[in-house]
Amino acid sequence: MAKLISFSLVSIVPPPFKTEYAVGIAEDGKGNRMPVRIEKNFFDSLKIGMSGRVEKKVTDFGELTFFIPEIEKKIEKKVALITGATRGIGRAIAIELANRGYDVAINDVELPDEGKEAIKSIETFGRKAIFAQADVSKYTEVEQMVNSVQEKLGTIKVLVNNAGINVDKLITNMQPEDWQKVIDVNLTGVFNCTKAVIPHMIDAGGGKIINMSSQGALDGPIGQANYAAAKGGVTALTKVVAREYAQYNILCNALAPGCIHTRMTDSIPPGQLKERIYQIPLGRRGEPEEVAKLVAFLAEEGNYINGQLLLINAGEYL
Ligand code: NAD
Repeated sequence: MAKLISFSLVSIVPPPFKTEYAVGIAEDGKGNRMPVRIEKNFFDSLKIGMSGRVEKKVTDFGELTFFIPEIEKKIEKKVALITGATRGIGRAIAIELANRGYDVAINDVELPDEGKEAIKSIETFGRKAIFAQADVSKYTEVEQMVNSVQEKLGTIKVLVNNAGINVDKLITNMQPEDWQKVIDVNLTGVFNCTKAVIPHMIDAGGGKIINMSSQGALDGPIGQANYAAAKGGVTALTKVVAREYAQYNILCNALAPGCIHTRMTDSIPPGQLKERIYQIPLGRRGEPEEVAKLVAFLAEEGNYINGQLLLINAGEYL
């Protein structure tokens, strides 16, 4: 076992990459001192006098001696913020993530009974759930909400940008305010929450952002110019976030659900809904819980998936 006698951080920034490591002096059990290098992932726990082992490794710059700190194993606290989560797909995501050990912040514009029940059921299996009120289309509200979630639950590890609305009309009937409202919630809302959460994720050493796009971004749905444009924008924004923040271990992906069994598709006129279901090879709508499982997979296991649009539609759109 060796002891860390001194260290300093080194940061080399040739854009777009940033190389960071620490150099220091370690002392072995016999009092011999040696120069060591320390990897970036140990930065948060470095302390003068801490114990660790020294190990020689071959690098691009030849053989170097590394100091590997002995760190107490902390149980990682997992916190997720899900927007538009008092009902539908968002609610199912909150329950699924809580089931997998997350404390969850359930965002929405108001808290209806369905949301209150979701919070209660999450608490029964031992996780914390809080209601985080904000209109995602308003940046100041989002910023306050994110700070309050950080205070109450801790660092947000997973952000699910799920809040969405639709105001379906042919373009000739669509008023500028119908266009604007849908863009503001579905697209600007994703930007607002992403912008507010990313600095916290950077400080915490990483995170996952999962955006709810839609099949509507891909198949030109009649009557949904505003919705399709917003969801296409979400897909494009996802790719930018994925490239800009992967260097901070923040991965960003989007989902494009097909026809999911929520209030959004309950509002389709019955004849039209029947016709749509006829186009789905499985012959049914997807359940919110089925989408939630894919979100949980990305949150928990998708460590080499970044900037992708994942389709979940039972083959309705191929
Ligand atoms: P839903 O209408 O049941 O739920 C949407 C939630 O977002 C609601 O709780 C609503 O109150 C909330 N919300 C609306 N405006 C908000 C705002 N300004 N700030 C915060 N919250 C707000 O819809 P859903 O079917 O569960 O859809 C969830 C997401 O999935 C949406 O982004 C939707 O576009 C997307 N999606 C749904 C389907 C589907 O078939 N249901 C398909 C593709 C994509």
